[in-house]
Amino acid sequence: MQVVTLRQMEELNKTPVKIRPEVLAVPAYKQGMAPSKQGFKLSSNENPFATLPEVQEAVNNADVNRYAAVAMPELRAAIGGLFGLNAETSQHMVHLAAGSVSILYQLIHAVAGPGDNYVYAWPSFEGYPLLSIATGAKGIPVALNNKFEHDLKAMAKTVTEDTRAILLCSPNNPTGPVIGAKNFHSFMKSIPKDVLVVLDEAYRELVTDSKAVRGEEVLEDYPNLVVLRTFSKAYGLAALRIGYGVGHPAVWEAARVTGIPLSVTAQAEAAASVSLTPAVSDQLNQQIAQLVDRRVALAEGLRSLGYEIPEAQGNFVWVPLGDDSLAFAEAFMQEGILVRPFAGSGVRISVGEAESVPEVLRIAGEFKKKA
Ligand SMILES: *Cc1c(COP(=O)(O)O)cnc(C)c1O
Repeated sequence: MQVVTLRQMEELNKTPVKIRPEVLAVPAYKQGMAPSKQGFKLSSNENPFATLPEVQEAVNNADVNRYAAVAMPELRAAIGGLFGLNAETSQHMVHLAAGSVSILYQLIHAVAGPGDNYVYAWPSFEGYPLLSIATGAKGIPVALNNKFEHDLKAMAKTVTEDTRAILLCSPNNPTGPVIGAKNFHSFMKSIPKDVLVVLDEAYRELVTDSKAVRGEEVLEDYPNLVVLRTFSKAYGLAALRIGYGVGHPAVWEAARVTGIPLSVTAQAEAAASVSLTPAVSDQLNQQIAQLVDRRVALAEGLRSLGYEIPEAQGNFVWVPLGDDSLAFAEAFMQEGILVRPFAGSGVRISVGEAESVPEVLRIAGEFKKKA
């Protein structure tokens, strides 16, 4: 057995090479600590259902000795079909990558560099601010309104000559509300037509609000719009890393230049393809319907305990607790439940196993009594 000495540990904490100061300034990402006792993981918005046998089989049957062929025509056609595109058009308008977060990196790298900026709402997806360090472009956060929604007017006002991209997240992770279709159209008309707009719909399958903007209904109106979705959340393929974008072929040509080649694996392709077949997607839709019921039970339950819960349209609820956020998350940790605190702002609780719902409400109720 190798024993690491104290001196070696100290050496490991120093960097042996020159690293960009803006990179060093970012605290290293720490995966959430494991709770002390057996409980529920409600911190990453994953699908809590076990992998479907059809999906597992597709993964097991994929060969791994050769690189996957990048074309993946059937998968592109199936995704394009969700947007009303025919199989041929889908080959040019559907883009695949190892998670939609990779597509965000490809896009910002393709459109923005030092001196440019991109605009996003805040609080929103934690990946957005990090794009700035990777690309050298400046990220400009714009505060949500008091209903925890995107303040689209304020975002439009923030756009300058140097703005290369605007990131919209609907429903917004971590707070939950969608962007309304009407507001979306007014926004698109108010910004320059050559600024890339990314509509990140990572939780699209869970949206029940009929007024929500839906990528497939607005895409053809705006050549500067791309829609991002993922198989990680409602579709339950988080560990396989596969997401997609739909939009103008020229944008994807650029994204291919900045992306890491060959990053979509054959297993991911196989699992995503089988997930879109009618037999499997019916089962996934049944899971999604159950998750929506649990979401409603969680949001309503927390509201009746006196918590102010914004409109929840993803597979998570947002508990705006300000300075109590870390203590609230700690109370859950003590009970073996992992949730995601945002210090000073709130706590995001994912919709998980059916048995987790009463547990969450019990712990939240006890926290309220102590407060
Ligand atoms: C989870 C998430 C993503 C990233 O998903 P991938 O696993 O990289 O496909 C992107 N955007 C939002 C808003 C998310 O919540």
